[in-house]
Amino acid sequence: MKVNRRIQQLVGSTTLAITARAKELLSQGKDVVNFAAGEPDFDTPPDIKAAGIKAIQDGFTKYTPSIGTPQLREAIAAKFLKDNNLTYKPSQIAVSCGAKHSIFNIIQVLADEGEEVLIPAPYWVSYPEMVKFSGARSVFIPTTAKSDFKITPAGLQAHINSKTKLLVLCSPSNPTGSVYSRQELESIAEICVKHKIYVISDEIYEKLVYDGLNFISFAALGKDIYDLTLTVNGVSKAYSMTGWRIGYCGGPQEVIDYVNKFQDHSTSNPTSISQMAAMAALKSPEESIKAMCREFEARRDLMLKCLDAVPGVSYVRPQGAFYVFCDFSKFGAADAVAKQILDEVNVALIPGEGFGAPGFLRLSFATSQEKIKEGIKRIGEWAKKNAPVGATSLPAAAVKK
Ligand code: PMP
Ligand code: GLU
Repeated sequence: MKVNRRIQQLVGSTTLAITARAKELLSQGKDVVNFAAGEPDFDTPPDIKAAGIKAIQDGFTKYTPSIGTPQLREAIAAKFLKDNNLTYKPSQIAVSCGAKHSIFNIIQVLADEGEEVLIPAPYWVSYPEMVKFSGARSVFIPTTAKSDFKITPAGLQAHINSKTKLLVLCSPSNPTGSVYSRQELESIAEICVKHKIYVISDEIYEKLVYDGLNFISFAALGKDIYDLTLTVNGVSKAYSMTGWRIGYCGGPQEVIDYVNKFQDHSTSNPTSISQMAAMAALKSPEESIKAMCREFEARRDLMLKCLDAVPGVSYVRPQGAFYVFCDFSKFGAADAVAKQILDEVNVALIPGEGFGAPGFLRLSFATSQEKIKEGIKRIGEWAKKNAPVGATSLPAAAVKK
């Protein structure tokens, strides 16, 4: 069948495919440990659910403006100011059907044929596929474990040319859990300002940072970079609301106006009910987020401790999000390794190929401490059976910081 040329090039989402497979196996009663999950395992807090239910009961069930209700956009503007020291007028904010949708829309608005979009690798699976829709070209900036999978000013500079339009930054990162420091972000911002490159700052994991680190919002680094940055966030990860589908973006008025037109002719508004629930989320006390973050940090520590005993596997210590990105290259191609681990010891993991990192596997710690112990125990047994010659439990300790 002949379909649209750009659609034809799309690769399916590994994260969604494997997560769906793990959920299917669990629903069939299989004893699967799910390290594939890209969503918090906590329930949406009751007061947020209640706001959604109230919206239905109050009849708030009709179209809203395509880029969200004025009230929600005001609440988001207040959040940006309070949490991120960012001043956006409500008119500079677009609410979409998840942060994924926000990023998709911005890429379609900004990137064009003949232009290049810079994507640090490893990257979240959807960025390059979104660029394919736009007709622009993805240019990957490789990183290594040595730099904690973060780009350096020299690495960024080396990939810029006259076609460069946009950089997609993700901190804390999915899949690596790396978090950029203020100083690192400042040096990236300086280069982007110099070359007038727009930046999508994907801040969806903002609330999940560990080791006492402070989250820094990229656009807050100065007026010049503010004018070039599209700040993306949402309620999925911070409030366990992945299914409600509310994400948002703050940015230059002109770009937001185009996003508005784009949504007018594609999705129209995100669900009215979810918008009400998102507003309750943004106004809810921070305490439940903090408790969730503390639990994730404890789970991270546990997962790393367990991984230290697995022969042949190394990782870079994540400081944010809920993933550990592990080097399994000693065991072969990540796709094949993930399949073997799922088939042989019933642990679901996401192979790195889709993240631009063959040889790596992403392990999510968005699951209970019991499951973490059990899952890594199983991986350890698998690794011992399949251990490459000379592998010890030391490499993990050698690479982690
Ligand atoms: N960015 C990153 C890096 C993510 O991991 C996710 C998770 N799906 C998203 C954006 C999108 O989140 P959502 O669409 O659920 O708001
Ligand atoms: N972002 C999550 C993940 O990386 C959810 C799945 C997706 O949307 O890709 O697993």
